Amino acid sequence: MENCIFCKIINKELPSYEVYSNDYVYAFLDINPVNYGHTLVVPKKHYENLEEIDERNLKELIIAVKKIGKAIKDGLNVNGYNIGINNGSVAGQIVPHLHFHIIPRLEDDGIKLMPQRKYIEDKASKYAEKIRRALE
Ligand code: 5GP
Ligand code: ZN
Repeated sequence: MENCIFCKIINKELPSYEVYSNDYVYAFLDINPVNYGHTLVVPKKHYENLEEIDERNLKELIIAVKKIGKAIKDGLNVNGYNIGINNGSVAGQIVPHLHFHIIPRLEDDGIKLMPQRKYIEDKASKYAEKIRRALE
């Protein structure tokens, strides 16, 4: 897609530090890493978000995430990593081309996950019901 920064990276119109490529997927280092080795894994076809991507491309994407996650563990000698998608601008998505972040984690790196809270009153059953209904 025109004017998409990740499409330009995939098409080599912009430079990147490539980590992995196949017919469906391209992976490269995030320009502003949370930790060194922070990798972005993107479908080669432009999809804005997780709802848009078809199952074939999604399957290839998650297989690549698994493969690259293992390579990050083995190659960077770390014990784990976080995988995430910021899906939608309200969730922090800045680049509107679907991408997984894989963030290598170091012992005592001080990175905090999102704060969690407790359910009050009957909120848990109500929210579960709303989601179940939307799945019907
Ligand atoms: P989002 O917030 O959309 O999930 O994350 C977009 C990510 O893309 C950010 O972590 C940002 O650092 C990274 N990014 C933005 N522009 C570029 C770029 O031109 N090259 C690379 N390698 N990463 C980029
Ligand atoms: Zn794109």
